[in-house]
Amino acid sequence: MRKRRKKRPDPPVPVDTSRWSQASRRSMTCELIGDHYSDRTLSCRNCRNAFVFSAQQQRETYEVRKAYIAQQRCLCPQCWPQRLRLVDELKRLRSRWARDRAGVKRDPQALRRWRELLAQAPRYGLRRDRAQCAMVERLLAAALPPVDA
Ligand SMILES: [Zn+2]
Repeated sequence: MRKRRKKRPDPPVPVDTSRWSQASRRSMTCELIGDHYSDRTLSCRNCRNAFVFSAQQQRETYEVRKAYIAQQRCLCPQCWPQRLRLVDELKRLRSRWARDRAGVKRDPQALRRWRELLAQAPRYGLRRDRAQCAMVERLLAAALPPVDA
């Protein structure tokens, strides 16, 4: 597969700092980037594989999505969708918790899954939520076996 990729240089992608977020414009990185974005080879935080954060992707990240300029993509294209799924599943667990605390407390399977997702989160560049980890641990310790077991 690799061999088929032609090594043809892409057209240069000019930097337009006027489209950056305010925080980006205030930062020191302005001068480091120069007039054009250039492809950066990064290492995936989750699987450690090398991947390219292309000049075009950088332009989109900083000028269209207005991400802070010091932010780099930390996940490869394979791990990124996994992060989206993880975030989504965590969101569903949290909203279920908000709706139905009693039900979640009695559901060790959901609690174990919640703990698993929280443990995986930092590998995907997500903040470790210590308060929530502690809460899920407490709930798991207190979770009673189902009444009809
Ligand atoms: Zn990866």
